[in-house]
Amino acid sequence: MSFKLDHNLSNYHWEARCCMGCAGCKYGDWIFAPANHEFAWICPEWQWGQFDNWGATGRTRLIDALLVGDLDYSDPLIIEAAFRCFGCGACDVGCKRNLDLEILMMNQSLKVALVDHGYGPMPVHKMISSRIADTGNYYGCNQADRKKWVTDDIKVADKADVLFFVGCMSSFKDQAVAQATARIMNKAGVDFMLLDEEVCCGNLLYSTGQLKKFKGAARLNLKKIKDTGAKTVVCTCADCYRNIKVEYPKVLEMATADLGFEVLHIAELTDKLAKDGKIKAKKEMNMKVTYHDACSLGRLSEPWIPWEGERDAEDWSMLKPRRQFRRGTNGCYEPPRDLIRGISGIELVEMGRHHHNAYHAGEGGGVKEAFPETAQFAANMRVKEAGVTGASAIVTPCVHSKETLSEALPRVNNNIQKVYHLAELVDEAYE
Ligand code: SF4
Ligand code: SF4
Repeated sequence: MSFKLDHNLSNYHWEARCCMGCAGCKYGDWIFAPANHEFAWICPEWQWGQFDNWGATGRTRLIDALLVGDLDYSDPLIIEAAFRCFGCGACDVGCKRNLDLEILMMNQSLKVALVDHGYGPMPVHKMISSRIADTGNYYGCNQADRKKWVTDDIKVADKADVLFFVGCMSSFKDQAVAQATARIMNKAGVDFMLLDEEVCCGNLLYSTGQLKKFKGAARLNLKKIKDTGAKTVVCTCADCYRNIKVEYPKVLEMATADLGFEVLHIAELTDKLAKDGKIKAKKEMNMKVTYHDACSLGRLSEPWIPWEGERDAEDWSMLKPRRQFRRGTNGCYEPPRDLIRGISGIELVEMGRHHHNAYHAGEGGGVKEAFPETAQFAANMRVKEAGVTGASAIVTPCVHSKETLSEALPRVNNNIQKVYHLAELVDEAYE
């Protein structure tokens, strides 16, 4: 029977039935790591809950029971398990080491199914989505203030090939990141424009299963971007980047390659500018730092490729036509590291969990809003892990993980003194 990679939960009954309980979605790549070592875990939800219900393995059992009618969508067990998931994708890359099951699409489709049946999202998610609809931004701020981050020293073009999609957090809350990003482009001679009125990318809508509303946000933003004629969209928020590059094409059933413009994170653009000699690291910064691979720039950032076909029961259930899998290993991992290593005096040390095995920092999936104890657990764990490296600072390419990790610093109280967004560090060191 034909099926496609969309958000229809029944398309993932195969995943629910074929999970073999191997725990590849529970622990990282290191099969030699002591089981239950606090930094061996890769699923923050499961590590928080310490019971299979809170991880992908348990969820496959719950979904199988749902799809054969042994469980009802109203069951609190399944609702809470679904909405405590960060959508970080660590389970997905873990599972694809062996089986290529579409575990993240399954998790996400469960949220969509719960919303469609009237059992989600959580009340706080509904409140925020109304706020986005009413105001155009996550925080409910006055849209007229969206460009207040643009200070006199920053040059914004009326028309350019590059469009800077700033995002709600950098526009209203952490404006230093927007300013640093703009200054990097100014210093390198990259002219950029802004949307007349940018609206929220819809990150919370997608990650809490509000598919219809997210499709509306995707269509609106894509129209706004296309109307500018931009050839390149630059994001400094890793979540805006993933949404425009991956989730918009995914929900609108098209390929990233067909967007009609390229989507770059500031890490990718700056790395290219540095390698082309357009900016150079001038300032010496004597410190030891560790880099946090934000999921949205790392394992979740591979281009979306639609697929529709069937499993051939006569041929070992092979997929026909054959498809190219997104396994998370081709995310953006080296450009930020190269930029950091390029700064004289900085020593970059890796945490135990890095690249596609990175541990989540507690900011996604609407979990921080609905289940703050689970989000704080994940952020604390990541700061503890960063502290073990001996670093005094964490560098992240994501405004949201900068926030959650910064909030965790006083709770953990170890040697980590500061969390930088990558753009802030680069702006400080490069001319
Ligand atoms: S890695 Fe895949 S097969 Fe193994 S337990 Fe997790 S979901 Fe099941
Ligand atoms: S997406 Fe992340 S939080 Fe959710 S089940 Fe997978 S590893 Fe756990």
